[in-house]
Amino acid sequence: MQRIGVLTSGGDAPGMNAALRAVTREALARRAEVVGIRHGFAGIVRQEFIELSRSRVGGILERGGTILQTARYEEFKRPERQRQARAILRDQGLIGLIVIGGDGSFRAAQRLHLLGLPTIGIPATIDNDIPGTDMAIGVDTALNTVIRAIDRIRDTATSHSRAFVVEVMGRRSGYLALAAGLAAGAEIILVPEVPLDLRWVVSRIKRGEELGKQHSIIVVAEGVCPEGSAGYQIAREIAQQIDYEIRVTVLGHVQRGGSPSVFDRLLAVRLGAAAVDRLLDGSSGQMVALQGNAIITKKFSECLRRRKRIDRELLKLAHRLAAD
Ligand code: ATP
Repeated sequence: MQRIGVLTSGGDAPGMNAALRAVTREALARRAEVVGIRHGFAGIVRQEFIELSRSRVGGILERGGTILQTARYEEFKRPERQRQARAILRDQGLIGLIVIGGDGSFRAAQRLHLLGLPTIGIPATIDNDIPGTDMAIGVDTALNTVIRAIDRIRDTATSHSRAFVVEVMGRRSGYLALAAGLAAGAEIILVPEVPLDLRWVVSRIKRGEELGKQHSIIVVAEGVCPEGSAGYQIAREIAQQIDYEIRVTVLGHVQRGGSPSVFDRLLAVRLGAAAVDRLLDGSSGQMVALQGNAIITKKFSECLRRRKRIDRELLKLAHRLAAD
């Protein structure tokens, strides 16, 4: 019987459990055994293995987080740890490894692939910063959480004529801020990919007032100010220039949790099954990905070379629709 390994790595994302269930059950259906590795790449070196049976992955589809837990393990960047991991996985009789995580996790998977251990990646990160896939598992759920919060904030913003700064996750990527800001009708969206222009921000708030707007919602990705809280810093700087009541909400970790949305469950199921299919087919060094509505594969080497770009036209559209 063939044996495959699976782990979750990097930041957790809603839908990781749905992917684990799909990987396990698809593999079992194809007469392969599945070994779960706890705590990401650290768990390989520490040999934290558990057999995943049909029933072990029962009742987890709708649960946020990951039953295997995840870890950040910088040690894995050292080549001797990577060689050690390959040897351990071979000793376990594994023919390959499925890695569920973000681009950092795929760098680790690529190293194992280059050392001769077959690996397939499943994109799962709420940042949606992995080039080569339209969406990663967890993004849609996080977006729904963010817009529900912004909708509530708008109610109180309108009642009190205030500006609200809402800080969302995204250290290097503004996708969450852009998509949530667009879907929630935010007046201003600030992302790390576009240099901050405070004069423009202030003039937009003033213009909103002139137009009779009763509130301004400013969605800020955390990476807009690399040091400290972007939300509070932006609010402080705006307050120095206009006499307007400004409140700040930092959404923080609520964005990571919760039961996965229908979109994320469907994506996790499709990507999970496709990853097993590719690994059993003998493919390696690739991630399974969503392009349009199709599941495709992309080489790690291609997607890790570049950064995912923000859609500047969409950003312009958001600002045009909100108050121009
Ligand atoms: P997210 O973006 O959601 O946080 P991620 O997968 O990008 O997910 P990282 O913390 O960047 O999260 O990476 C996860 C783990 O992958 C690291 O803790 C480390 O164990 C491994 N890893 C990351 N980069 C490398 C690398 N260049 N070489 C080897 N291993 C790496």
